Amino acid sequence: MRVFWAGAVAAGLLAGPGSAPGLQPEAASPSARIVIDVGHGGVDGGTTYGTILEKDINLAVGLKLLSVLQSRHVPTSINRTKDYALSDDNPGKNGGRHRRDLAQRVEVANKLNPAFMLSLHVNWTSNPSRSGPLVIYRKNQQAGKRLALRLQQELNRLYGTETEPVASKSYYVLTHSRVPSVIVEMGFLSNKKDRQLLLSPQFQQKLADSIAKASMDALKEDFPSSAGSKKNRAAK
Ligand SMILES: [Zn+2]
Repeated sequence: MRVFWAGAVAAGLLAGPGSAPGLQPEAASPSARIVIDVGHGGVDGGTTYGTILEKDINLAVGLKLLSVLQSRHVPTSINRTKDYALSDDNPGKNGGRHRRDLAQRVEVANKLNPAFMLSLHVNWTSNPSRSGPLVIYRKNQQAGKRLALRLQQELNRLYGTETEPVASKSYYVLTHSRVPSVIVEMGFLSNKKDRQLLLSPQFQQKLADSIAKASMDALKEDFPSSAGSKKNRAAK
């Protein structure tokens, strides 16, 4: 973990209202209420369409989401602010690069212990007509399910869809994270209309705004914290 903390501070990853370059990450970490997990990075591009790489869309929306949440005084951490693989932070672990990458994401969430973690991704399927957002939560995890419902509802509103969130027990990040976590598939790279939307900075901002709204509603209604609400009141 020391490697992660050092890298995280250098890259400004442990972002939050109290954090600044040079601040001890241990001081910043307890305040994180939301962790943004930016899917893929570095050698791992995620899903692709021509030269379009999922990792870049995830990062673009992730940074916008971080900025919205910070502007609303929600203590938030993000696990990458640049294009690199998280497995590079986790060289000592056993297993292949992909597994090390996922393990690092889980380790960051477990260490920071936020109310929840949002994993940002872009979907792909062989059926080019399939489109829209899809939120995935861990099967039988009620907190994750409520969060997924809120996120799906906001994203449905944005896309004009009526999709239901999906339960799964086959995603490493969902099953290994000790904090409630959801995977937010923000649209399909395999669908022409979604693809155009996902590449538009204006739409990326709308995605960030929708995810932020659902997340803040969830924090308020489902994950209350006396320290957090006091801080929020003081900030208003
Ligand atoms: Zn992905």
